[in-house]
Amino acid sequence: MSVTLSQSSRWFARPLALVVAVLLTVVVATGFLGFRYWQERQAADLLFERGRQVLETLDRLRTVIADVEAQRRGYLLTLDPSYLKAYGVSDESVRRDAQALQALVASDPLQNHRAGHLALTVAAKLREIDDIVNTARTSSGPAALAMIRSLDEIRSQIDQMVDHERFLRVDQERRAEALERRKAWLIATAVVVVAVLAGAALALARFEARRRRKATEENVQLQSDIEARDRKIRRLVDANIIGIIIWEVDGRILEANDEFLRMVGYDREDLTAGRLHRTQLTPPDWRERDARTVAELKRIGTAQPFEKEYLRKDGSRVPVLIGGAMFEEGTNQGVGFVLDLTERKRAEEALRQSEERFRTLVQFSFDVYWETDAQHRFVHQEFAESLADAPAWGAEIGRTRWEVPYLEPDAEAWRKHRETLDAHLPFRDFELARPAPDGSKRYVSVSGLPMFDERGRFVGYRGVGRHITERKRAEEALRSAQAELAHANRVATLGQLTASVAHEVSQPIAATVLNAQAAVRWLGAQPPNLGEVRQILGQITDDGKRAGDVIGWIRALIKKAPPRKESLEINQAILEVIALTRGEAVQNGVWVRTQLAEGLPRIQADRVQLQQVILNLIINAIEAMNGASEGTRELLISTAADASNGVLVSLRDTGPGLDPASLEHLFDAFYTTKSSGLGMGLSICRSIIEAQGGRIWADANKPCGAAFHFTLPLEKEETAAAEHAGPMPAV
Ligand code: ADP
Repeated sequence: MSVTLSQSSRWFARPLALVVAVLLTVVVATGFLGFRYWQERQAADLLFERGRQVLETLDRLRTVIADVEAQRRGYLLTLDPSYLKAYGVSDESVRRDAQALQALVASDPLQNHRAGHLALTVAAKLREIDDIVNTARTSSGPAALAMIRSLDEIRSQIDQMVDHERFLRVDQERRAEALERRKAWLIATAVVVVAVLAGAALALARFEARRRRKATEENVQLQSDIEARDRKIRRLVDANIIGIIIWEVDGRILEANDEFLRMVGYDREDLTAGRLHRTQLTPPDWRERDARTVAELKRIGTAQPFEKEYLRKDGSRVPVLIGGAMFEEGTNQGVGFVLDLTERKRAEEALRQSEERFRTLVQFSFDVYWETDAQHRFVHQEFAESLADAPAWGAEIGRTRWEVPYLEPDAEAWRKHRETLDAHLPFRDFELARPAPDGSKRYVSVSGLPMFDERGRFVGYRGVGRHITERKRAEEALRSAQAELAHANRVATLGQLTASVAHEVSQPIAATVLNAQAAVRWLGAQPPNLGEVRQILGQITDDGKRAGDVIGWIRALIKKAPPRKESLEINQAILEVIALTRGEAVQNGVWVRTQLAEGLPRIQADRVQLQQVILNLIINAIEAMNGASEGTRELLISTAADASNGVLVSLRDTGPGLDPASLEHLFDAFYTTKSSGLGMGLSICRSIIEAQGGRIWADANKPCGAAFHFTLPLEKEETAAAEHAGPMPAV
C-alpha cells in the first residue's frame, strides 16, 4: 500500500515542482520588474521635482533680475535712492538662488556648467550694476544701458537653462508615460500572477485535500489489511495446529501458543514468569545443534527446519521439527514454528516394525522376493539368507526371467507364461527348473502380481519365489512309493483273482485240448474231414491267443514298468477287465452288466494304470455285494461322453452302499472298513485318475448300493492337463 502511495506522490511531485518553479520565477520577475519600476518612478519623480525646483528657481531668478533691473533702471533714470531700498536683499537672494540652482542641477553637467556660469555672471553683473549705481551720479545714460545689456545676458542664460529644463521635462514626461504603461503592465501581470497563484493554490489545496482523503482511505485500508493480517496470524497462532513461539535470540521465550505449551508440558504461568528458556528446554546432546541454528539465524535471519528434541517439564523428551526466522534486521527477536513429531515418529517406528515383520515373514515364507519393470526385466531381487545356490547379487538385474538359464518347463509353457505377463494378469506357482552349480536341477515356483501406477499404467510385477527342489524330490519319492504301492496293490489284487485268472487261462487251454482231440478224430476218419479240422484249428488258435492275452495282461500288471501313454478305447479296456474278473463275479453270484456308449472318442492313457483302476472298483463292488445276504447282486458298468468333453465311466452296484459320513475319507490312504483291507485301493485309484487329468468320486446308487464315477479327458486336452499337473506318476 505504501509503495503505491509513494509512487503516486513521486508521479505528482515532478510537474508540481515545475509549476512551482515557473510560478516562483514569474513572481520573482514581476517583483523585480515592480522594484525596478518603483526605483525608476522614484528617480523620475525626483528628476521631475528637481526640474520643477530648477524652473521655479530660474523663474524666481528671472523675477528677481527683473526687479533688480527695474529698481536700478528707476534709480538710474531718477537717481531717487528710494529705488534702491530693496537692493541689498535682492542682490543677496539672487546670489543665493544662483547657488541653489547650481546645487539643484549638480547632476546635469551641462546645466551645472550653465548654472555655474550664471552664478558667476549674476555675481559679476550685480557687482557691475553696483558699480554703475555707485557711479550713477556721474555717468548716467550709457551706464544704465550697459546695465540693461548685462542683465539681458543673464536673462538669456536663464532662458537657455529654462529651455534645456523644459526639454528635459518633455523627456521626463515621456518617460513618465512609459513608466505609467509599464505600471499598467505590471499591475496586469501581478493580477495574472495572483490569479494563477490563487488558482494553483486552490488546485493544490484541492489536490492536497484529495490526497489526504485518499491517504486517509488508504490508511484505513492499510489499517484494515493489517488488522485482517493480524487476525489471520492470530488465528494461526490460536488454531494450535503447530506450536508457535516468539523468542529472543539468546534463548528466552517471550510468547508461546497453547500447542507449544502442551508439547513441552508447561503452562502459561511458567511462560509469564519467564521460566521458558531454550537452554532449559533443550537436552544437553542437542545444544550444539542449537548453537549452529542460532549462528545461522544471526547470519541469514532464517533457520531451515530441522528435527530435534525438547525436554518436557516432567523430564521426558518430545521429538519436534523446528524452523524459525528473525523478525527484521537489527532486532534480536524472532518467531519459531514447532511441530510435534511424536505421532510421526510412532508411525515411522510402526512402519519400520511392520517392514521388519514383513521381512521376517518373507524370509521364512519365501526364498526370493523380486520386482520387474514393464518390460519384465528384474529391477530388484532379494534372496533368503538360508537359500543355497542363490545367484550373485545383481547378476540377474536388467534381464528377464527367460533370459537367465533354465531347464524346465518347455518352450510352449514359457510362451503361455509370457502371454499371461503381457496381459498383466496375476500368476501363481509357475514352476521352472534351473541348472544348479552341481549340475542338478533346482526347482523354483514363482508367483507374481502386476503393479499399476496411480494412473492405472502397468509398471511391472512384484512377487515371490519358492525353491521347491526339496518338494520336487519328495514328490518324486512319493511317486515311486506310490508306484511300488500300486504295484503291490496289483499283485495283491491278482492274488485275489487267482481262481478267476486260472479259470481264464485254463478254460481256453482245456478247450484247446478238447479241440485238438476232436481234430485228431476228424483226421482219422475215412476220408479225413479236413474242413472240420481247419475249423477246429481256427478255434484252437483263438483259444491259444486268448490264453496268451490273459497271460500277457497279467504279466503287464505284475511288471514294474514306467508309465506309457497310448491311445486307447475305453470300452475295450473295460471289457478286458470284465473278462478277467468274470470268474470272480460268477463265483460270488454277481451279475456284471455293461452299458457302453458307442462312438466314444479315444483317450490317451496308460492302459495298465487305467485297468488297475477299473479292476479295483470291480473287486470293491463284488466284495461289497458279497457281504449282502439278499437281493440281486448286480454291477452295472457304463460309459458315456462327459459334459466337459471327456469320457465318464460309472460303476453302480447293489451292495450295502456307502456311509455318508465316510464319503469324505473314502479316497484317503489306509481308510478301510474291512478286517483284512489295506485301505489303499481307492487312494491309488484317485492318484492315477488325477495324474491323468481326470476326477474320481463316489455317491449313492439308486435304489441301493454305491456308485463310483471317474472322468478322463480326451487326447488333446490330456496333453495340456499333464503339463499343469506335472510329470505323470510312475505308478
Ligand atoms: P480296501 O478295499 O482295502 O478297504 P479301498 O480303498 O479299496 O480299501 O476301499 C476303502 C473302503 O471303501 C472299503 O473298506 C469300503 O468300506 C469302502 N468301499 C469301497 N468300495 C465300496 C463299494 N462298492 N460299496 C461300499 N463300500 C465300498
